[in-house]
Amino acid sequence: MDQIDAVRTPASWVVVGLDNGGTCNNATVLDATGQFLVDRLVENPSRVQDGPESAVESLAEALTGILTMTSTPLSLVRAVGLDTPGPASADGVISSKGSTNFSQVSWHGFDIRGALEARIGLPVIYHNDANAAALYAHHRHFGADAMNRSSVAAIVGTGLGGGVVEAGKVISGAAGMAGELGHVQIPLHGVLEEGQDVPVCNCGFEGDVESIASLTGITKNLLPYWLTRFPEHPLAAEPIGRAAKLLRGYGEKEDPLALAVFGQQARAIGKLFTIAANFTDPAAYFLGGGVVEAAPHFRQWFLNTVREHTQLRREQQAAATFALVPDLDMAGARGAAVAALEAVSG
Ligand SMILES: [Zn+2]
Repeated sequence: MDQIDAVRTPASWVVVGLDNGGTCNNATVLDATGQFLVDRLVENPSRVQDGPESAVESLAEALTGILTMTSTPLSLVRAVGLDTPGPASADGVISSKGSTNFSQVSWHGFDIRGALEARIGLPVIYHNDANAAALYAHHRHFGADAMNRSSVAAIVGTGLGGGVVEAGKVISGAAGMAGELGHVQIPLHGVLEEGQDVPVCNCGFEGDVESIASLTGITKNLLPYWLTRFPEHPLAAEPIGRAAKLLRGYGEKEDPLALAVFGQQARAIGKLFTIAANFTDPAAYFLGGGVVEAAPHFRQWFLNTVREHTQLRREQQAAATFALVPDLDMAGARGAAVAALEAVSG
């Protein structure tokens, strides 16, 4: 019943978006007029832990499944957009060192885009998941004006992902590494407290955005410091990983320790956006991740704090907007579909 409400059949040719994750693929269909035919998550197991062959087969099954659900003949599909977690090249070749999701040796240097294209016999357009989410946020926010606008998106999760969109298109870079906003080093003045150690990122950089504005940054850097300032806090009795995950609940209740940690994160993102303002001068700054799912008063406070610490010139203040990234669980598949539509629309 739910399915009938949430699924439409196409009136014209379509593209399909496939979002590949550690446990599930999520699929969607976008028609030539820019309408999504699916209003909710449609998932199947991604089987990435079983290696490339199983994973590519699962992606092909996700394609078949979403076409069946929307009564879309395969002949109407012009292209497929695919996104996966990085790091990967701009053409969808997984890093030669593998990654969290693609740890098996058979994944190292694997061309997942090319393999899916060969399997399904349709053009496949690739982006990493953060870039796909950034692209979706951009198109959703600007609608018909998307191809004339620019934006920057920061998505706070285990790490800090993001994307830079210029004239409606994601900037990929020569090696596919543009928009790795988490590893941009920021000025720490006004972010860290007196005597607080300079945070170190898993990538090896000191004082980059991800070392502060990510769950990993909370666990490794921020919470250990702030617990020395609030030694009686109930989270001091929890294992650090669990304490880090519980912190948002405390933030929603305006707990001083939690607000100190999230305040540092917001100031770090403000510093990043200040760099963006002087680099691409975007029309919109998007913020996504766990914070978007937090209580409305808390996420508004977080967004306001980011905005207060983004130093814009007067002309930029008049031209730019700050917004939360919507529909985050569907943003990858939808962004991948938007990229495919752009590619075939020329
Ligand atoms: Zn880093």
